[in-house]
Amino acid sequence: MEELDKRMRLTNQRQVLMEELRKVTTHPTAGELYDMVRQRLPRIGLGTVYRNLELLSECGIIKKLETGGEQKRFDGNTGPHYHIRCNKCGRVDDIHIPLFEDLDAQAADCCNYTILGHHIEFSGICADCNASREH
Ligand SMILES: [Zn+2]
Ligand SMILES: [Zn+2]
Repeated sequence: MEELDKRMRLTNQRQVLMEELRKVTTHPTAGELYDMVRQRLPRIGLGTVYRNLELLSECGIIKKLETGGEQKRFDGNTGPHYHIRCNKCGRVDDIHIPLFEDLDAQAADCCNYTILGHHIEFSGICADCNASREH
């Protein structure tokens, strides 16, 4: 927690948001997080949730996912990892495969940027959507 205090004072609302987000691996949207934190902070507004999520992700405390189009999703796991998104229902899950460290080096060879990292998002059809298609 010490490193957080230096960059940003965590208000109770932000603290709760961060805690709730870190409990799940479902990459919730702001609306879903709003429903989650309301159990603990009944008076919080959706606008406050949006604002605090933006702030927390700007500070690198949480991660805003670069998912195609649609609603923004948030991740409490800020470490590098890959995602898969369901084309039908839009859910996003983590994919636990080794990172392609070599990609950064290859990219660095091809442009004069300092490479900070890369994002990979797979797309597919989730198990639930596959199951409902068979019925
Ligand atoms: Zn699905
Ligand atoms: Zn994730």
